[in-house]
Amino acid sequence: MASGLGGQVLRRSFQRSVGGPWNYVGGRRCDPTHATAPFKVMAPATGREEVDRAVRSAKDALPAWSKLSGRERGQKLMEACRIIRENLEDISRLEVQDTGKPIWEARVDIGSCADALEYYGGLAPAIVGQHIPLSGGSFAMVQRRPLGVVGGIGAWNFPMQTCVWKVAPALAHGNTFVYKPSQFTPVTAVTLGEVLTSAGVMDGVFNVVQGEGEAGEHLCHHPDVAKLSFTGSVPTGSKVMAAGAGGIKAVTLELGGKSPLIVFEDAQLENAIKATLVANFLSQGQVCSNGTRVFVHRSIAKTFTERLVSATRALKIGDPMAEDTTVGATIHEEHARKVLGYLTSAREEGAVGDLEGGWYLSPAVLTNCHDDMKVVREEVFGSVAAILVFDSEEEVVRKANDTLFGLAGAVFTRDLNRAHRVANEIEAGTVWINNYNLYPTEVPFGGYKHSGVGRENGTTVVEAFTQTRTLYVEMGDVDAGPLYVE
Ligand code: NAD
Repeated sequence: MASGLGGQVLRRSFQRSVGGPWNYVGGRRCDPTHATAPFKVMAPATGREEVDRAVRSAKDALPAWSKLSGRERGQKLMEACRIIRENLEDISRLEVQDTGKPIWEARVDIGSCADALEYYGGLAPAIVGQHIPLSGGSFAMVQRRPLGVVGGIGAWNFPMQTCVWKVAPALAHGNTFVYKPSQFTPVTAVTLGEVLTSAGVMDGVFNVVQGEGEAGEHLCHHPDVAKLSFTGSVPTGSKVMAAGAGGIKAVTLELGGKSPLIVFEDAQLENAIKATLVANFLSQGQVCSNGTRVFVHRSIAKTFTERLVSATRALKIGDPMAEDTTVGATIHEEHARKVLGYLTSAREEGAVGDLEGGWYLSPAVLTNCHDDMKVVREEVFGSVAAILVFDSEEEVVRKANDTLFGLAGAVFTRDLNRAHRVANEIEAGTVWINNYNLYPTEVPFGGYKHSGVGRENGTTVVEAFTQTRTLYVEMGDVDAGPLYVE
């Protein structure tokens, strides 16, 4: 069955013309010495100096920031939330210019940044220690202390959201931060710096350094960075973990995915179709948790596919700033070519479907797919949904888990028992029942297996951004046993 929108070979019609990329160090924008030249010719030595300067700035700011009460830190994060909500439209437009995603989606992303600042601003005063009574009136006090300077590194698909999801909890817990955005989306991390400064966050608490992988690598190896929080691909995540091992640093990794979306024969079909669109074509398919392996029960496969293809044809690809655009532009040409390469290989391996070229790629629905295809096994990170037909619950659970990834998954059924039974078998950090790609701030998010280590969001990050210090208080005499003879 053919799919895709057909015929449109559009070029990207706008430039990233927002200036920069700037660093943000010590509470102000500064021109990186390397920024007048494209990143590709960045002098590694200069990049290192700038990472060093940012880490120094974060280290200097640590004592004052960590000595504020949780309530004082929380108030500043709440104020940052208010500023973002007040400027949501302008910031969303910056995000569109940087990523090529449609404006309606950017508004959702920036709204979620405000939500995260609000949530962790509210949580900050509640981060407290423990008092543990011990024998003879002695006791222990367990303090929750910040880790120190956190080094964050981000991908390009949700630039500001990725940054805020790391920075809001880290700052709430009294840490300071150096963030390196993706070289493809350098802008809104600097905007976040300006928002935080306007909200009263002291200079140096949050810093941004621009650069390619080598800047990230230097940040990971920096001896004054206590914790690494990374979002990106599995191969880079593995390098970040190795760098963390060398310096005995705590590491959180949010990596790739190839998630299953399972539609049983009793599913509410319209919801399943809508969710499949959300699970595959948001942000031009460049979403880590996407449900790109769409398993559909054989008895409804034909109807489901026809309706999905028809809904896909109705998507409007075009200028991401236009209000009626539903699908925008791929991040850059090399990535667009990579996505098209997967389509070619899928066709060679027997799949049927289409996707048009340029930086604007028509979303594709591939049918006749099987589990061994490259497009089914590897993360495409583009608008390519692969339909896989199944016959039994046992079969689909086995196939859904037959992957090195484990970021997310979904089950569509009206049978409550089956929904929970299957969801409990899926090896993934998030399983949606009858919906897809929802990430409220209060809910932990992260991956099993190669999809990552640790979680973001929710209260689970208390462990990720703090360490305990136990004060043992002796109320009696020292008991040295036979070691001490009077
Ligand atoms: P990438 O791994 O190529 O780059 C990510 C970041 O790492 C960039 O800022 C890059 O400059 C930096 N980097 C590159 N080499 C480095 C090194 N040796 N040391 C330190 N930093 C280095 O990934 P990408 O192409 O930017 O993003 C796409 C990937 O991100 C996909 O696999 C996607 O699934 C994943 N992702 C995951 C999540 C999640 O929450 N799990 C969210 C978004 C994206």
